[in-house]
Amino acid sequence: YTKKANNFQRGIGLCYLTIQGRTMASHIVGYPRMGPKRELKFALESFWDKKSSAEDLQKVASDLRASIWKQMADAGIKYIPSNTFSYYDQVLDATALLGAVPPRYGWSGGEIGFDTYFSMARGNASLPAMEMTKWFDTNYHFIVPELGPDVNFTYASHKAVDEYKEAKALGVDTVPVLIGPVSYLLLSKPAKGVDKSFSLLSLLPKVLAVYKEVVADLKAAGASWIQFDEPTLVTDLDSHQLQAFSAAYSELASTLSGLNVLVETYFADIPAEAFKTLTALDGVTAFGFDLVRGTKTLDLIKGGFPTGKYLFAGVVDGRNIWANDLAASLSTLNALESVVGKDKLVVSTSCSLLHTAVDLVNETKLDTEIKSWLAFAAQKIVEVNALAKALSEQKDEAFFSSNASALASRRSSPRVTNEGVQKAAAALKGSDHRRATNVSARLDAQQKKLNLPVLPTTTIGSFPQTVELRRVRREFKANKISEEEYVKSITEEIRKVVVLQEELDIDVLVHGEPERNDMVEYFGEQLSGFAFTVNGWVQSYGSRCVKPPIIYGDVSRPKPMTVFWSSTAQGMTKRPMKGMLTGPVTILNWSFVRNDQPRSETCYQIALAIKDEVEDLEKAGITVIQIDEAALREGLPLRKSEQAHYLDWAVHSFRITNVGVQDSTQIHTHMCYSNFNDIIHSIIDMDADVITIENSRSDEKLLSVFREGVKYGAGIGPGVYDIHSPRIPSTEEMAERINKMLAVLETNILWVNPDCGLKTRKYTEVKPALENMVAATKVIRTQL
Ligand code: GLN
Ligand code: ZN
Repeated sequence: YTKKANNFQRGIGLCYLTIQGRTMASHIVGYPRMGPKRELKFALESFWDKKSSAEDLQKVASDLRASIWKQMADAGIKYIPSNTFSYYDQVLDATALLGAVPPRYGWSGGEIGFDTYFSMARGNASLPAMEMTKWFDTNYHFIVPELGPDVNFTYASHKAVDEYKEAKALGVDTVPVLIGPVSYLLLSKPAKGVDKSFSLLSLLPKVLAVYKEVVADLKAAGASWIQFDEPTLVTDLDSHQLQAFSAAYSELASTLSGLNVLVETYFADIPAEAFKTLTALDGVTAFGFDLVRGTKTLDLIKGGFPTGKYLFAGVVDGRNIWANDLAASLSTLNALESVVGKDKLVVSTSCSLLHTAVDLVNETKLDTEIKSWLAFAAQKIVEVNALAKALSEQKDEAFFSSNASALASRRSSPRVTNEGVQKAAAALKGSDHRRATNVSARLDAQQKKLNLPVLPTTTIGSFPQTVELRRVRREFKANKISEEEYVKSITEEIRKVVVLQEELDIDVLVHGEPERNDMVEYFGEQLSGFAFTVNGWVQSYGSRCVKPPIIYGDVSRPKPMTVFWSSTAQGMTKRPMKGMLTGPVTILNWSFVRNDQPRSETCYQIALAIKDEVEDLEKAGITVIQIDEAALREGLPLRKSEQAHYLDWAVHSFRITNVGVQDSTQIHTHMCYSNFNDIIHSIIDMDADVITIENSRSDEKLLSVFREGVKYGAGIGPGVYDIHSPRIPSTEEMAERINKMLAVLETNILWVNPDCGLKTRKYTEVKPALENMVAATKVIRTQL
């Protein structure tokens, strides 16, 4: 390995020299850690399963880091980040750096090792993991720091300086990246037992004391730049919070002196007040902005940028997979150059490339025309550098012109445009589609047909996915088994699930979704306008990755997608069989979406396709149809000022899907979250007949929300048990839950169901859990 490293070092050393002669300045905010083929995922999981050693894992990790640094150096990137690698999560890394380990994990000081680190991340035999939550409006999840007045911050992880030195030993002088101290605190929560009114920002001095040690360490190791990520600056902050930034950087200023300091923001327009605070920070010499989502930020910069400071202009989109419009970016950059000065402009990505796919090179199955429209992380590095070169009068004309022709082909390609779809979607504008009858009257009409008992029981859709089932799907896809065999296997699986539910005496049945590997991919594969990658993985949390479909063109539905399976299942039982669809907003939010038209437009197109499916299901005799909107909340813009607009078109899209059905057809929706106090009015506005939601983890919070629901009159199914855990709740426990709900909700609107789909559970867990759920319901029914 040493030999390899030496060769490598020489290679980079050489190309680094050639670059230094030029003045072009390019920067990457951060890079995906998983590797082009998810190498880190497999190394982590094998280590967790005790199939490989810590050294094996460390070796995979250091090879990945080395290859990423080399890739950036080879491409000519000047400011290459380090410490954007993580074994699990960069916020957890900051928690480790600060030694802010919750006491229950029993850490006794010293450098934090894998044991403590992964216990916090994933839990261990006796303790659950720390809470995880979404990183701003991305699909990445971070581990939420738990802090209280007694936290004893100490410099307990030297990962940042170690990575800096590691890169340096390979010949790459990097920019170490740290989560900014203020964002770290703003993203934390008070530890259990700590008064809710406790001010997390009051911990700032203690946090800064450790940051000073880290900065001094990095300086001593030879770092000349340092990057603090302060993305919370783009959110709605009050003046007290903004003041914390001024105070923090003043406090750090003397330690930072002699270093170039970049404060990086991303994910949205930066509010004018925050821009003012940011650009006035002590000791900070460079500011980074997301200019893809932050078009108004551009105006702020043009309106005044501090002289002598660097502008890191994030013009290459870190959150999508489209090739950059290089000509347009260049003209933006030219305009900025005249504001900040030629030697102070640095070309960058809009945010860390963590949120995009890794390398297009591995997409061997993608259509070549579509492929020419795309750029994953590895390609984005080249784009950033091409723009930087163009700014320093070394424009690679061939590269720019091939980019221009790819964009032209995308604009004019007949596979992108479907005039019929565009007309139909355009016709929706300004209208307000909703069912003609109100929900209570509809529920009456439905009850006449369905004749359900009080507290009807149901499940959310999927049943356990066995190894055998996955094999059948895989072999059918690979043409190894015939369609006839495939249909037979899936039908048998459906029959098993139907029989089981009848035995359990569940009231509204599901077919179990055995034909689906993923609730978005399944529909995307059958809709036109979607493309799929083989390796386009994006980290969701820890070792978990998702592979979002790419929506490249107008969306339409060539033929029914679920009618065959749903009617097959309905044919097996007299009980109502729920048709099971994914809603347009969820399909949109879990895909890479085209950037050549507003998201709302694309969402309306998907809504029309799902509407066709809903109506076909109804025609086929399906009387209950569930349209899942698991990801509706995920798309909520960060800034309050933009939320109303999103909710408006998102909710409208949902209503479009079922506006055409009869009163007696019951529309369910399902959402995988319980925290929607702030969007309850939008949820009511979706006008579904029955809403099932996650609830088993946070009862009390929901009570107020339910009261609103009562006024509305729709059926509500707050999950009575947590499907994320293998634990089987007892009949008594579930009965108690139902009783708690009945204390707040009217009997005639309450449904009984688990939190979410059962796909990840085993039958040995699902059977007894559902048995207890039905038993609990029956007990309560007798008491009403
Ligand atoms: N119907 C889907 C299932 O049961 C819903 C999944 C989800 O909400 N994430 O699997
Ligand atoms: Zn769910």
